[in-house]
Amino acid sequence: MQYRIDPKTQHRLSALGLGCMRFPGAVPGRPDAHAAEAIIARAVERGINYLDTAYLYPGNEACVGAALERLGLRDRVYLATKLPHGSCRRPEDFDRFFDEQLRRLRTDRIDYYLIHNVTSPAQWERLVGLGIEGWIARQKAAGRIGAIGFSYHGSTDDFPLLLDAFAWDFCQIQYNYAGERYQAGTAGLRAAAARGLAVFVMEPLLGGRLAGKLPPEAQRIFAEAAAPALATPAAWGLAWVWDHPEVTLLLSGMTSPQQVDENARVAERALPGSLTVAEHEVIARVLAVFERANRVPCTGCNYCMPCPQGINIPGCFAAYNASFAHSWFTGVSQYFTASAIRSGHPKLATNCVRCGKCAAHCPQHIAIPDRLDDVRRRLTPGPVGAALALLARRDR
Ligand code: SF4
Ligand code: SF4
Repeated sequence: MQYRIDPKTQHRLSALGLGCMRFPGAVPGRPDAHAAEAIIARAVERGINYLDTAYLYPGNEACVGAALERLGLRDRVYLATKLPHGSCRRPEDFDRFFDEQLRRLRTDRIDYYLIHNVTSPAQWERLVGLGIEGWIARQKAAGRIGAIGFSYHGSTDDFPLLLDAFAWDFCQIQYNYAGERYQAGTAGLRAAAARGLAVFVMEPLLGGRLAGKLPPEAQRIFAEAAAPALATPAAWGLAWVWDHPEVTLLLSGMTSPQQVDENARVAERALPGSLTVAEHEVIARVLAVFERANRVPCTGCNYCMPCPQGINIPGCFAAYNASFAHSWFTGVSQYFTASAIRSGHPKLATNCVRCGKCAAHCPQHIAIPDRLDDVRRRLTPGPVGAALALLARRDR
């Protein structure tokens, strides 16, 4: 494992951090405790010392807290979690959420605390109005918060404004080879590092879309490049992020001990500037293929779910993208599975009543109802689509 020094705290952080949001679990909101424990145990064994969760990941903080306690690993890791700031209406809400998080995580301190998904300076100003700056200072003085930061999915222009709005210790941004000019982007990465902040990267593989879900043509380009240390598309994607000296660590949502092993092996060479010019050219060719197929930038994070009409929103978009990346038939087949069409009570894209509940939660700012229209047009065109729409409406 390679380690990088957090420029603010001087902590020695593993270049690979464990994102806990995607822990497996058969029931939504209930991560599988045994699976989570096995992943955490293997991660620490492989040298990972940073774990990231959030109040808003259903069941996740409690699962992480219980696993760390059972394994006796709390003091071997830096623990990060996030404040659900949209639910903070009164000054006392900060304590209410934070105390609950400490209880769930079975700890007396959060090493890295983030304001979750601040997307504009106005959102931060609202929290300042509620007294968050004083609250943070008190928690830090009491040793209950180590470093303070924010996670970000807003615009490129707003990012530097947020960086300058407070004396942050770190920030967490979405960054990958398909997102150099998206959200904070490369400009934001450099701006944060220039201000002395640690920068943690999320979505380095776009929820798998830059790994196993890449179009076959893109996977072929990587395979033909035959770089010995970069055996998989995931390895290429992670190495690209680590190539940047401004990156302190990246978070990967590993879902099995085997995946931890695979990523930890790549992290052994996670050195800045380690990719060659030829390897950068390979990635540029893959990116061109990816951009042709990636019509909806959904990462499958599920923040928009549940839809009151039962629509599997990320499933619809995954099927739509698959219809460009693989074939139209693959997309239709995936769409019918995601829509539970064989159940007799399908939840097709046509079920959308434009209630507006979903789009406000989407960190990728996808106009979900409009894009579901695109899904409908492409995957159930003509009379077949009309018949299916009737079937779906019957169930509303
Ligand atoms: S706008 Fe459509 S997809 Fe979104 S939550 Fe409402 S019904 Fe579901
Ligand atoms: S539509 Fe947006 S919120 Fe929903 S899963 Fe995709 S990226 Fe996440």
